[in-house]
Amino acid sequence: MRALVLHGPDDLRLEDLPVPSPGPGEVVLQVTRALTCATDAKMLRQGRHPALPPPPAPFGHEACGVVAAAGPGVDGLREGDAVVVANSAPCGECPPCLRGRPSLCEHIVYLSGAYAEYLRVPSRIVARNMLPLPPGLAPERAAMVEPLACAVRGVERVEAGEGDEVVVLGGGVQGTLIAGLLAVRGCRVTLCDPHAERRDRALRFGAARAMDAPRDAAAADAVRAAHGDGRGPDAVVEAVGRPDAWEAAVALARPGGEVLLYGGCAPGTTVTLPTHPLHYGELSVRGSYHHTPAAVRAALAHLAAGDAPYDDLLGDEITLEDVAPVLRAGSGDKRPVRPA
Ligand SMILES: [Zn+2]
Ligand SMILES: [Zn+2]
Repeated sequence: MRALVLHGPDDLRLEDLPVPSPGPGEVVLQVTRALTCATDAKMLRQGRHPALPPPPAPFGHEACGVVAAAGPGVDGLREGDAVVVANSAPCGECPPCLRGRPSLCEHIVYLSGAYAEYLRVPSRIVARNMLPLPPGLAPERAAMVEPLACAVRGVERVEAGEGDEVVVLGGGVQGTLIAGLLAVRGCRVTLCDPHAERRDRALRFGAARAMDAPRDAAAADAVRAAHGDGRGPDAVVEAVGRPDAWEAAVALARPGGEVLLYGGCAPGTTVTLPTHPLHYGELSVRGSYHHTPAAVRAALAHLAAGDAPYDDLLGDEITLEDVAPVLRAGSGDKRPVRPA
C-alpha cells in the first residue's frame, strides 16, 4: 500500500508498505478520506511530536474508512462497515479518567497513519472511539469528528448560555467551529479575526457579529465597548494559540465573566496577567485540551445534523502526493485526502 511516513523535520516520504494486518482487538481500515490538520503542519516542521512514535512514523490522524479486516475479539464490526475514528482513546482506569476527566488521561493512546491506503487502528480506539458512519454523512465531513470533538470539549468548559455575549478570538478552523457550537447554544457570538473571509465565514456559522482582531489597546477597547453596555462580553474564548491573544482574552472579559484559553501556545511560553481584574472582577479562567469519548459522539451528531455549514471548512480534495506541499503552504482550509 502507499503510505506517507514522517522521517524527520520537513522529511515526509511516500512509501510502499505491506498492508497491515489486525492484531487482537484491532481493526484495519481502508481509508476513504483523511483530512489535513494544522497540527500535522506543526509535526512536519518539527519532525516529531509527543503523540507520534519516534520517526520513521506513520502520519495523519483524521480519518474515515471502511473496515477491511477485524482482528480476533472485535465485536459488532464487519468487513465493509463504514466507520469514523477519533485520533485517541483514554484508558478509563487512571486517576484523571476515574475522576471523569478522560481528556487528561495519563495513558492516552493516539492514532497515526491516516495518510495511507490502509490504517491499523489500536484496540483501545476500536473499543472506545470508533463509530459507525451515520447514513448520508459524506466521509470528508465525517472525518471532521476529531477537530469538532476538540471544539465540543472546549465549549463544555464555557458556562455562557442563551443570550449571553461571547467573543471568540481567532477565526481559524477551531475558532469557527467553537463560534458555531456557541451559536447553536443560543449565545450571541462575536468572532474577531484580521481576515475578512474568515469573518464572513464566522457569520455563516451563526456568529451575530464579526470584528477585526484586537491587536492593540484601542482595538481591544472597541471590542469591549461593543459588548455588555461597554463592560465587555460575558465570556471570551481564545482560539489563536499565542500568549498575546491569551492576555487579550483576559483583558476583554467583563467583571464576573469567564475566559477559556483554548489555543495551544508554543512550549515554554508564558503570559503576564493583570491581578486586579482577576481578583476584583472575579474572572473565571479555564483551559481546555483535546476531547473526550462523549465529545466525539456529540461531534458526530452535530456533523450528521448539519447544524452549521461544516463543509465550508473544507478545501479541494488532494492525493497523498499533495499532502507535504499543502502542509508546508499552511493554508487555513482543511483538505480532504483520498489515498486510493
Ligand atoms: Zn487534527
Ligand atoms: Zn486514563
